[in-house]
Amino acid sequence: MSKNKVLYEGKAKQLFLTEKDDELIQFFKDDATAFNKKKHEIIDSKGVLNNLISENIFNYLGKNGIPNHFIKRLNEREQLIKKVEIIPIEVVVRNKAAGTFTKRFGIEEGKDLPETLIEFNLKDDEHDDPLVSDEHIKVFKWANQNEIDEIKEKAIVVNRLLSELFNKIDIILVDFKIEFGRFNSGKKVEIILADEISPDSCRLWDIKSNEKLDKDRFRRNLGGLIEAYKEVATRLGIDLSNF
Ligand code: UDP
Repeated sequence: MSKNKVLYEGKAKQLFLTEKDDELIQFFKDDATAFNKKKHEIIDSKGVLNNLISENIFNYLGKNGIPNHFIKRLNEREQLIKKVEIIPIEVVVRNKAAGTFTKRFGIEEGKDLPETLIEFNLKDDEHDDPLVSDEHIKVFKWANQNEIDEIKEKAIVVNRLLSELFNKIDIILVDFKIEFGRFNSGKKVEIILADEISPDSCRLWDIKSNEKLDKDRFRRNLGGLIEAYKEVATRLGIDLSNF
């Protein structure tokens, strides 16, 4: 699979066109950013670990009935994915209070939420990814009501599957962010899971010690980010012998 020109350059990934119209290559960079790029560092090998972890998780979700964009991993930093039209909404699923949520509502970090909560943020760095409601999404036509309903249903199932997966390896899934896209198969347009799922996009705490095994190590200058991501990969059963 040969790579053509860059279609999109994000903070932690690049998307390349391929010779097939309906397939892209997703390249994982080592860039770590937080607070809308105010904090930025290169963390050697982070992209390699996220590629492996995201592969593992998308395969697991695919086997458990969640259609997604992942086709196959090509090498240590690249994966082949289905080309979708990304819905410009970050879908955040929260099981416990953490991050911006604790500040917004004055709730202490780690507090269980009475029910799983889904929030939407517009993908718009210039305006700090504002929190938006279903109404904003409909009025501005980022997605229609059926799509919103489908996204919420899928997000809840993804949360159940991921919580089970992580629970088995003694990790609490505190919250995570996912993205969806419209995939045109020629016959119909389907909403499928896209982007990545990795410790960059999830909050993962060790069940016994509550130690953070995710990007909060970078956000909060805790150090040991690569060790934490390796720990997640190893517990998921990913072979790191060539790492
Ligand atoms: N998240 C993400 N990308 C973003 C913003 C958030 O992957 O641009 C993830 C983040 O890692 C966490 C969840 O979404 O697992 C909720 O993040 P929050 O809204 O609390 O914002 P943060 O504190 O991460 O800025």
